[in-house]
Amino acid sequence: MNNELRSNFLGDRVTYKIPNEERAVVIGASMAGLLTARVLAERYDKVIVLERDELPTSVENRRGVPQGLHTHGLLAGGREALEQLFPGISAECVSNGAISGDILQESRWFMEGACHARFASGLTGLLMTRPFLESVVRERVRRLANVEFRDNIAVTGLAASPAKDRITGVTVGEEVLESSLVVDATGRGSRSPQWLEAMGYPKPEEERVEVGLRYTTRFFKRRQEDLDGDMAVIIPPTPSGKRGGVMLAQEGGRWTVTLISHFGPAAPADLDGFVEFSRTLPAPYIHEVVRRVKPQGDASSTRFPASVRRHYERLKRFPQGYLVTGDALSSFNPIYGQGMTVAALEAVALKGCLAEGTTDLARRFFARASKIVDIPWSMAVGNDLRMPETTGPRSAAVRMINAYIGKLHKAAHHDPAVAFAFHQVGNLLRPPSHILHPRVAARVFWGNLRSRALAPAVAGALGSNLAQ
Ligand SMILES: Cc1cc2nc3c(=O)[nH]c(=O)nc-3n(C[C@H](O)[C@H](O)[C@H](O)COP(=O)(O)OP(=O)(O)OC[C@H]3O[C@@H](n4cnc5c(N)ncnc54)[C@H](O)[C@@H]3O)c2cc1C
Repeated sequence: MNNELRSNFLGDRVTYKIPNEERAVVIGASMAGLLTARVLAERYDKVIVLERDELPTSVENRRGVPQGLHTHGLLAGGREALEQLFPGISAECVSNGAISGDILQESRWFMEGACHARFASGLTGLLMTRPFLESVVRERVRRLANVEFRDNIAVTGLAASPAKDRITGVTVGEEVLESSLVVDATGRGSRSPQWLEAMGYPKPEEERVEVGLRYTTRFFKRRQEDLDGDMAVIIPPTPSGKRGGVMLAQEGGRWTVTLISHFGPAAPADLDGFVEFSRTLPAPYIHEVVRRVKPQGDASSTRFPASVRRHYERLKRFPQGYLVTGDALSSFNPIYGQGMTVAALEAVALKGCLAEGTTDLARRFFARASKIVDIPWSMAVGNDLRMPETTGPRSAAVRMINAYIGKLHKAAHHDPAVAFAFHQVGNLLRPPSHILHPRVAARVFWGNLRSRALAPAVAGALGSNLAQ
């Protein structure tokens, strides 16, 4: 409690007790920072979001989020978590131009030589550009009365108690902004390990898996007849070709097309080279569209060298009043589209932790966040290890699961139940053990036997058709 001298209504000078404002500071106003601010606003009197960039008031790319120029898919699990935090946000996105549809019925998932079975799955996808989604979320957060954005401010360090056992605020040059809780949501380039080390704490263990990924993205005009009205094509890179592509319908009647290369030369940025690269993908769908439609704007290219995970949950000592979230905790190979969903799930977990109080908050939050990250991390890394160049231990279990997943895709070409199980896991709606459930495994087994039995007949039919 603070004492403050005020005049009462008779004009006498009296001392009032006024409560200290309990304040939280979030560093970074990208997806993780915004979602964290939303959750903190329920518990703290004031939440201040500090952002290095100037924050746009409309849908715009910005320097601090260069990945915003590239295709961003939101997993169904992420959409559900966003709905929990901002009820009605999916409908708001759609009314502003986002595209919504069934992830399996209206999309082409080309895996292991053919597309997954198509059917009404009830898994709803929401397609829009990254700056569009960020602006909708940012405007929702702006509407919270106790959240204040301060942009054009780069945090340079942390302020701590004399014993360094509690973070008491952030430093911006010489100035200190005091707060009860500081959350680092500064993304992959987070300085938390260095800031903590400077105060005598050990750095968190860092796991790094080289993925040698290159993205080239272009936008095109979308015509109604493209892909017979489907909203998405996903062609992941395979160990043999190492090239893949994603094409998603976006707001404003556009396609975003990202061509991906694993451990090889990037897709060229010039239009002819881009279209030619799309011809070399394992399936023709993207090429068939991009060779016909009008390009919009220039290409953007980026490299993503490695997935990185920082194990804060393993630290024995950690100051009070400090958390790290989003990409600053773990940043995944973006092919799997997990980053925003994980940030949303971490925000929901933080809400749960705060509901139990603030005592021992960091230990409880990092433990929950680590469980959240375990699943997408093991899925992404396990799959990346199919590429011979990916670094990391290839245990017998990883090799077995990868072999099983290859067979699962084959069964999913014609078995909706198997495809559904896979996409529930891929969308972070069910744990990975779900695809190993005996009911699913039996269908995978029989599905593969059936394909083998049918293969000669299919080849014969194809042969006789071609001969005619
Ligand atoms: C090429 C690429 C494609 C991707 N595709 C997908 C996808 O399809 N689906 C998906 O879900 N995710 C995808 N991701 C991941 C996704 O972008 C992130 O997971 C998501 O943005 C959450 O990140 P974040 O908010 O933790 O950090 P970031 O988005 O990196 O934001 C960090 C913020 O902190 C600010 N900042 C940094 N330092 C300071 C400082 N010192 N002071 C103040 N502010 C600071 C930055 O300006 C920025 O605004 C992709 C990532 C990449 C690189």
